[in-house]
Amino acid sequence: MEDEIYLNKPDELFAAIEKKKEDGKIMVAQIAPAVRVSIGEEFGRAPGEDLTYKTVGLLQALGFGHVADTPLGADINIFEEVGEILSALERGDDKYFPVFNSCCIGWRLYCKNKHPELYHLVSPIASPHMVTGSAAKHIISKKLGVPVSRICMVGIMPCVLKKYETRERMPSGERYVDYVLTTNELAMWAKKKKMDISKVKEGKFTPLLPDSSKDGVIFGATGGIVEALLTSLACKLGESQKKIQFRGDEQVKQLCVQIGKYKLNVVSIYGVSNLDRVLDEIKHGVKYHFVEVMNCPYGCVGGPGQPLPATEEKYRARAHGLRAAADKKPLKCPIGQVGISGIYDTLGIKPGSREAQRLFYFNGTKI
Ligand code: SF4
Repeated sequence: MEDEIYLNKPDELFAAIEKKKEDGKIMVAQIAPAVRVSIGEEFGRAPGEDLTYKTVGLLQALGFGHVADTPLGADINIFEEVGEILSALERGDDKYFPVFNSCCIGWRLYCKNKHPELYHLVSPIASPHMVTGSAAKHIISKKLGVPVSRICMVGIMPCVLKKYETRERMPSGERYVDYVLTTNELAMWAKKKKMDISKVKEGKFTPLLPDSSKDGVIFGATGGIVEALLTSLACKLGESQKKIQFRGDEQVKQLCVQIGKYKLNVVSIYGVSNLDRVLDEIKHGVKYHFVEVMNCPYGCVGGPGQPLPATEEKYRARAHGLRAAADKKPLKCPIGQVGISGIYDTLGIKPGSREAQRLFYFNGTKI
């Protein structure tokens, strides 16, 4: 069944994607942050090595005409989130807090099933994967003058669970993302075609979309979403020179920070036993403004679609490699970026508007 494509075996997925190209679809891939620092392991390279542009080149060699960067969707996610959080802070009502991140599907499923009383606090903004799907489809459609239905979006993700997001539909009825391949599946596909990431030429992201920022890239390692949110809030409140970092590999990291007139309590967590402890504290009155929950060790870099065998050393190397890759980005945060405002202008929408919500928020069940 069309809605069950996420269940397909790798060979069926490769064939289905190739068929879309033969059918004349405009083929677009997107690369999650964590993929770039792990895919090399499948080809004998070191964990944590930044192979962003090699991965773009590999996808182009596999037939994708356009490659987008999932951190762009993370930038839009945080851009919208800052607006949501600032209006909640201005309303000064505790009932809006804490806000939980929405980007980890493992966490969303866990929250919905085990802590349904907290589910309304999960951010309504769609995951960076889905936002990138929507933004890329709509911008490419506008710029090339083709219907959105002609564009096929394939997400390259560190996560098996991300395949569920292919079930989510935009209000137009189109999928945000049509297919998901894990890091392992992309490597498998390349090997079937006798391709080696070390030998492919570096590629370039599609010029139809703007570059992403450091904040968008850092989403893939623990603490990255909190850092992105704090940096963007500081920027929005005119504290752009303030250097905010929320680094470190601890399973639970907390910070109380003054940004503008607001004193914010934030925490990042990975590991279910830690999560249950923090959720218990929240239920007993401990106040946080933002809670980042990532299901996997060290965040998405430790996702279930990543190269095996999985070890603590590999997770750590990938997390550190990803932070270093993020720090190389010339743009530091999405606030005030011409590229991000250009997306809204091209689509003729305003941040936080009903139209932005139709494109970038969950329009269904969040799962
Ligand atoms: S943390 Fe794990 S479960 Fe959550 S989105 Fe990342 S890879 Fe998937």
